[in-house]
Amino acid sequence: MDYIKERTQIVEYGKKLIENHLTTGTGGNLSIYIPKQKKILISPSGIDYYQTKLEDVCVMDLDGHVLEGNRKPSSEYALHTIFYKNNPNVRAVVHAHADYATACACLNIDIPPLHYIMADIGDKIRCTNYKIYGSQEIADEAYRVMGPNKGILLANHGLLAIGKDIDDAMGIARNIEMMCKLYIRASSIGNPVILSDEQMAAVKKKFETYGQPKVK
Ligand SMILES: [Zn+2]
Repeated sequence: MDYIKERTQIVEYGKKLIENHLTTGTGGNLSIYIPKQKKILISPSGIDYYQTKLEDVCVMDLDGHVLEGNRKPSSEYALHTIFYKNNPNVRAVVHAHADYATACACLNIDIPPLHYIMADIGDKIRCTNYKIYGSQEIADEAYRVMGPNKGILLANHGLLAIGKDIDDAMGIARNIEMMCKLYIRASSIGNPVILSDEQMAAVKKKFETYGQPKVK
């Protein structure tokens, strides 16, 4: 069996979707892109995250053909492959029906930058127009609305996060849920104060030097 590392990540990060309260049951899906071979590894359709084995993870090409595995891949594969086809910086995609993000998605609203962590995702979290799940239309709409950002809401559906690796994409998914939770809670007792473009630009600049210095 090839791609043991990536298969293991799909299985482990699938469990993280549940542990991070980003989904329940078999909702949501995740994938990792291998650019050299133009292949993706994606979670199988409808299998409990705690029951998913390495061999259940599907290997596909960018045209939606299953290359390895006996399982049916996630029905949302087009939502994943569109980013790999068009954006060389994207190496992982996470999609989930997290409670707060989905509640905001059902309102078809954009989430403004009410907390500085938004800078990790983009200028704001935009919501798509409604398109049916598992279609090329939802993939096209998601790609259009994402623009240079790393996370969006899918109208009446859930959240979508992209990243340079699976850990990055999962972090974005967590932050989308956090922003939506804050927006709902803050809006319930008043009008959230939205950070200005200048304030957000300053945060973005600071994020570039955040964390431990790189070992040379
Ligand atoms: Zn979904």
